[in-house]
Amino acid sequence: MRLARIHTYGLTALLIATLVMVPTNMANAEEQKVPERGEIETQYTWAPETIVPSLDAWEAAFAEVEQDIPKLEAFKGKLGENPETLLKFLKLRDEIGPRFEKVWVYASLRADEDTRIGKYQALKNRLQGLGVKYGQATAWVEPELTSIAWETLDRWMKSNQELAVYRQAFHDLFRQKDYILSPREEELIALAGQVRAVPHNTYNLLSNADLQYPTITDTEGNEVELSDSAFYIFMRSSDRRVRKDAYEGIVGTYKGFRNTAASLLNGAVQNHLFNVRARGYDSCLGAALDGSNIPIAVYNNLVSTVNDNLHLLHRYQAIRRKTLGLDDGVHAYDLFAPLTDAAKLEYTYEEAVDTMIKGLAPLGEEYTEAAKTGIESRWIDVYPTKGKRSGAYSSGSYLTQPYILLNFHGGYEDMSTLAHEMGHSMHSSLTRHNQPYVYGDYTTFCAEVASTTNEVLLQEYVLSRLTDPQQKLYQLGEFLENFRGTVFRQTMFSEFEQKIHEMAEQDLPLTADTMGAAYGEIMQKYYGPDYTHDELVDSYWIRIPHFYYNFYVYKYATSHCAAANIGARVLAGEPGAVDAYLSFLKAGSSAYPIDLLKLARVDMTTPQPIQDAMKLFEQMLDQTEELLEQVK
Ligand SMILES: [Zn+2]
Repeated sequence: MRLARIHTYGLTALLIATLVMVPTNMANAEEQKVPERGEIETQYTWAPETIVPSLDAWEAAFAEVEQDIPKLEAFKGKLGENPETLLKFLKLRDEIGPRFEKVWVYASLRADEDTRIGKYQALKNRLQGLGVKYGQATAWVEPELTSIAWETLDRWMKSNQELAVYRQAFHDLFRQKDYILSPREEELIALAGQVRAVPHNTYNLLSNADLQYPTITDTEGNEVELSDSAFYIFMRSSDRRVRKDAYEGIVGTYKGFRNTAASLLNGAVQNHLFNVRARGYDSCLGAALDGSNIPIAVYNNLVSTVNDNLHLLHRYQAIRRKTLGLDDGVHAYDLFAPLTDAAKLEYTYEEAVDTMIKGLAPLGEEYTEAAKTGIESRWIDVYPTKGKRSGAYSSGSYLTQPYILLNFHGGYEDMSTLAHEMGHSMHSSLTRHNQPYVYGDYTTFCAEVASTTNEVLLQEYVLSRLTDPQQKLYQLGEFLENFRGTVFRQTMFSEFEQKIHEMAEQDLPLTADTMGAAYGEIMQKYYGPDYTHDELVDSYWIRIPHFYYNFYVYKYATSHCAAANIGARVLAGEPGAVDAYLSFLKAGSSAYPIDLLKLARVDMTTPQPIQDAMKLFEQMLDQTEELLEQVK
């Protein structure tokens, strides 16, 4: 699961990608069976032709945007003159922006349908060029806006209703004003941008291009090449020998570059620290959270409440140790192994849609009918085809449908991905129908709440209808794993992230040894007495790219807890809970993320949502233990 927000020079087209884990060897073997796009019935493909009907029409739309961009520049130096001029400019920007996003969405959908077709890739390159032009034509806007006195702007908004719409956007801009430096200083920081990007870029090259992995023997006795992308596939093998060999092969390869990797991660952390010290923030954590105006209490509540509940994670490991018969304790390579080998649930696409809609029924007809209409309007590109982009995502913009890319194979996880992406797309759709363009997007902090709530509802629906104890046990195991992976594990990563940033703030050295020791200590604290720590685990942090994202992963954990809360309220039939949640989905970015979640009755500034989520995890553990007794 990965979430990427594509900011195209101030534009806000959203692409929320979920990385689906496909082993490369399996992908190659299946490549033969994958159909060409032309062999897929139209109803299973998305409909970019509703954005523009043809390439000629796309060219015309592109040219119009290109012609209109200079009109924005004509307002330079005039925004502070009077409210009418300012409003005129904002309206023009909010008229050109969505048209730009529209051509961008069309090109990116077409390019992802078949990545082998060069002409669509070329369109994307041209859009990048247009993005640069747009950026240049609007670079002056924020400094010029913030040079208007807030009192003046406030007076203008009070006398002009149309301008008052922008209050939240202005507030968000002005609240960060204290950290904006002089134009010359900002210019110097911008100049250093490319240099500062080197650690992250180098890490990507190291992990994606340069590392060579050994081969191992799989369960059937075949020699298979290891790859980082197939890491979790190997970790989910029920053959412990395969898991161990794969873990040692992959993490061992990373360990071979531990000093290089430590230097790179140190570079990224120093980068964050540079920003903190140059702009006058209190801490790296504070600076990172300030971007979305997230109070530090939200982060601290998460970490402390998860720590208060580590006994549950320890209990889960004890269950796993006993069930999987791991006499020497749960090793790092055992953490992902399924609890049972029971038959997996399988669905045709029609069954998956039907099950999802039934699972989402507690959200009410307004929601499910809109989702059904979306599916019928061909939001979704369902099946894998030759050359199609892998994984899954929800993408679109203010003037387009909220498209969904899937690579549906028929497992439970594919149905869950469908529900997840539908959560994003419904969030987009409801927001865009209820908000002006300026608030027609949403932050990552809120985005994963909309998607995960659907996952939670679907899981409850499916679980409550399973009768075969083995199948039920398998599914429960999957949900426990999902919770461990998003709530405990991401919080653990956050603690490591916080630790190394604090070390840098105190001018302590960040080396392979100091970071390895910090990581090992946190791992042992989290997994508890039934976990056996191997020295190799001290190098595991090297394979996590998220540590370069600057306090990103904690949001996976907060979103999951918020979604678990919303799901529980909705399923319990709490009066008004559905409407409260829908008002959150309709609110886009019209308020700060924490206030938006309060609309859905979730207050992330208190430990309550995390505590409640922990209770759900505990209940699932109880159920699992009962079932294990039954199937003995
Ligand atoms: Zn997502």
